[in-house]
Amino acid sequence: MKNSILIVDDEAVNILALIEILRDDYTLFTERIGCNCFETAVRLQPDLILLDILMPEMNGFEIIALLQADARTKDIPIIFVTGLNKASDEVLGFSLGAVDYINKPFSANVVKIRVRHQMKILNLIREIQTLSITDHLTGIGNRRYFNTLLSQEWERAKRNHTSLSFMILDVDDFKKFNDTYGHVNGDTALQRIARAVCSEITRASDKVARWGGEEFAVILPCTDSKGAKNVAENIRTAVESTDITLDDGSIKHATVSIGIHSFVPDLEDGYSVNNFIADADKALYHAKNTGRNRICIWGEI
Ligand code: GH3
Ligand code: MG
Ligand code: MG
Repeated sequence: MKNSILIVDDEAVNILALIEILRDDYTLFTERIGCNCFETAVRLQPDLILLDILMPEMNGFEIIALLQADARTKDIPIIFVTGLNKASDEVLGFSLGAVDYINKPFSANVVKIRVRHQMKILNLIREIQTLSITDHLTGIGNRRYFNTLLSQEWERAKRNHTSLSFMILDVDDFKKFNDTYGHVNGDTALQRIARAVCSEITRASDKVARWGGEEFAVILPCTDSKGAKNVAENIRTAVESTDITLDDGSIKHATVSIGIHSFVPDLEDGYSVNNFIADADKALYHAKNTGRNRICIWGEI
């Protein structure tokens, strides 16, 4: 998919020139009214903004300040493209957060190269960000991804007084699986189990991650214990019936124990997200101690 650019300039001739230069390589959006730029950027979420400075109503310096101050737009890189050619303006542009500064009249090749350069940086940053929250073995979210998400959902549930459910899954007797079939087959098992868990998650807001070694976690926003128990039961049976093909072609099976905690966080009572996790963990250990391949809900044990 092509990267996208929002071109902001009050003069049609400048916009047309930039379109001509960039149209083959990028998806382009345009905005001629400076004071609409912020709203347009929020709505379109372009990968990059080319921003003129001298415009009636609102100038580029004022616009960049708005964009940088809002969480929805602060990470969009901005290149000034301007007739203000004094070094002091350029310094001001960079100090306000621009990633580059192109003087008018511009050379088509310089615009192309400098835009390409910024897109390369942007795409690399995104790749690194994705890698930093992805579990290498299973391809699902990792613990860091999950911690951030759980804190966000906890705060949201607190604000909206909605029920949040959290599940910890631990593969049963996995040390024995590794000891019997070897670590490579153990890794294959974890990959298959991760796929089986994900296949039972149907709501976009529900999220799965690898919590640690052979443990997975699931967050279910706006879900009470009854709903969470249904999902957990689907996961438990999906894992149980998943074929794990070993490197010698033989097929094995694994099971998981699941601890669930469902809760409406309260603004007042001091019960933290860490308490929430710890109680889900206690439910998991109860599931382990009472036979494995089963589900336990904190509050019902
Ligand atoms: P329980 O039913 O009580 O959970 O027993 P268990 O054997 O699953 O638990 P234990 O904590 O004793 O062992 C977990 C095992 O998981 C040991 C470790 O080698 C294995 N493991 C953790 N991460 C990985 C991994 O990335 N790959 C493989 N192959 N094994 C892993
Ligand atoms: Mg474990
Ligand atoms: Mg285990």
